[in-house]
Amino acid sequence: MGDTYQTIADRDATPEEAPRLARDVVNWLVAEGIVLAEAEPGWGLGEHPAHPPGPHWHKAVDDARWGAPEGVAVHTERHVFYSNFNSGGPVPVSCPYCGTGVPDQSSAVSLLSAAMDEWYATGTADVECPACARTVPLPAWNWTDDHLAFVHLGFRFWNWPPLSEEFRARVAEFLPGHRTAFLPGKV
Ligand SMILES: [Zn+2]
Repeated sequence: MGDTYQTIADRDATPEEAPRLARDVVNWLVAEGIVLAEAEPGWGLGEHPAHPPGPHWHKAVDDARWGAPEGVAVHTERHVFYSNFNSGGPVPVSCPYCGTGVPDQSSAVSLLSAAMDEWYATGTADVECPACARTVPLPAWNWTDDHLAFVHLGFRFWNWPPLSEEFRARVAEFLPGHRTAFLPGKV
């Protein structure tokens, strides 16, 4: 047992634009009947309020037969999302400029962990790429299979059946020009 989640994260939203983008997505989800307008505690894990599923929640998924979804939590504050369903490759993370990958998980941790703490505390952190020596902001590092995302905007669907590719693409249309990450996992 346990709870599953699927997070759609906007990798490029700034703290200033995150609330407006979140509102655009939620307005559309409400108009489609996929979620209800009022977010309440108790519809996801933890105290963070979440939008209960709406009468047409099944429009977001491919196969609604066994679904009993809970809420959709909208995070517009600094947040580290992670995935543990996607299969991790040998190279967990790579530099967005030169493409050089960090060879394994423990090298990734030793390269990035101080920056992760700093980003969590301040919202900004840079790491020098060991290969090309460029200064790379922590959120810009590319994680294999979207393992981690350091973002200011994320939509977390609690216990929903797998979201369809089409639905995820529709959500991304409200985040124009931004890269998204998709992070499914289980608690
Ligand atoms: Zn590099």
